[in-house]
Amino acid sequence: MIESKKISECEVCLASQEESPAMVKVSDFFVQKDVFDFHYDCDYTYCKGCCCTDGCWIYPDEKIRIADKLKEIVEYLRMRPELPFWKEGPNQWEFTDPIPDEGQYHSKVVGGTCIFQIPDGRCAIHAYCLDHGIPWETFKVWICVDFPLSFAFHDGAWYMRIHREVPEPYWNHCACIRQEKLPPERRARLIPVVESMKSTIISRIGPTRYDALASYAKSYAIQK
Ligand code: SF4
Ligand code: SF4
Repeated sequence: MIESKKISECEVCLASQEESPAMVKVSDFFVQKDVFDFHYDCDYTYCKGCCCTDGCWIYPDEKIRIADKLKEIVEYLRMRPELPFWKEGPNQWEFTDPIPDEGQYHSKVVGGTCIFQIPDGRCAIHAYCLDHGIPWETFKVWICVDFPLSFAFHDGAWYMRIHREVPEPYWNHCACIRQEKLPPERRARLIPVVESMKSTIISRIGPTRYDALASYAKSYAIQK
């Protein structure tokens, strides 16, 4: 598989508590303990969206959802004349590579970045959602929303962990997960991932579990 942004993982094979000994039970779900020590925030204005340079993997149902709104989404990409959307032809509206890999598509990479990236670093799909009152957490490509966390539902329970590919060297250019590369003042401003990714977490495991998670995180911080 291409080593691109946020490669999806096997949700089920990573989900068992036995394979993740550092998991703790919170309410009726399981959380990797390291999540509570993880400070993180996404600031594309600082990094210019450097995690999008290799594109992302897209499931078939996501592809259909995006294709349905594609002509509105591409309006956010007018400043990228190199994109195929502006040239009439058989592949004008094709935004993924032609051959899926293990049932997933991959967004085209054009001019050194994902076909959906706006030059200022934003994602056109995300911008479209914000402007149209659409919840981006459930509309956008899920792996682009979840990273650097991952969520899995297995045997009747949710499992939440730091994405297993966060340590991989091909993410070394992303200072948000290589915080030693951030200037000290930026590093000091980072907040716990449980806070910065609140809306994503709620969209995945629901508000009641989020409240339990936030409460656990608070007591965890006090105990340290
Ligand atoms: S590299 Fe990190 S901070 Fe930059 S856009 Fe991606 S997730 Fe956000
Ligand atoms: S779909 Fe959006 S968030 Fe995902 S890689 Fe492309 S530009 Fe980045």
